[in-house]
Amino acid sequence: MLWDIDGTILRAKGAGRRAMNQAFAETFGIEGAFDDVVMHGRIDLDFIAEVFADHEVDKRKLEDFLFAYYRALQKEATPENMELLPGVVDVLQEAERRGYLYNALGTGNVEVGARIKLDAFDLNHFFPVGGFCERPAHRYEVLDNAIEQAKAYYGIEFAPRDVIVIGDTVRDIEAARKLKVRVVAVATGGSRYEELAAHQPDLLLPDLLEQARLFAWIEEHASA
Ligand SMILES: [Mg+2]
Repeated sequence: MLWDIDGTILRAKGAGRRAMNQAFAETFGIEGAFDDVVMHGRIDLDFIAEVFADHEVDKRKLEDFLFAYYRALQKEATPENMELLPGVVDVLQEAERRGYLYNALGTGNVEVGARIKLDAFDLNHFFPVGGFCERPAHRYEVLDNAIEQAKAYYGIEFAPRDVIVIGDTVRDIEAARKLKVRVVAVATGGSRYEELAAHQPDLLLPDLLEQARLFAWIEEHASA
């Protein structure tokens, strides 16, 4: 199971945006640079590159910006500032308990940022491996890398039909389709239920409290 983070596992409720704004102000002296940036379902370094271009700042300062972002995110990404989405921990635990399911991350976040957010709710132990944003890329490339990393880590040759992407946006569905893997959409984040339904995920859930439906669907397709 390849997990998206924002809108699927947790809601950062602006913590990431505030941290990026702080880091940009610290690095370049410009306030509010990320105020109007659409982030849902997108790759961090993609929209960061856009903001750098819009403000014509020095691309060579990307590392400085990222370090400032991690520092700011450490302060912003607290359990009080964010929301762990309902049912997530139960699904992660149940997946581990079943033994034949393997959790991994497939996120547009840079890895350090992803780990900081997950650490707020002590979730990193569920995800020994994952695919992250390492450079500006398409979402399907991030997921493809996640699958390769998971194969290497778990020592299992997962076929496309064995891979289940869990995500909250139309972009997650499109990326999964591109890779011919299956996709469970949850309407807890960036896209509304009707909008997700229109893009026909393999399974659509209002949230992950619907654990029984999720595992029934997995079992039904495990032997198909
Ligand atoms: Mg998301």
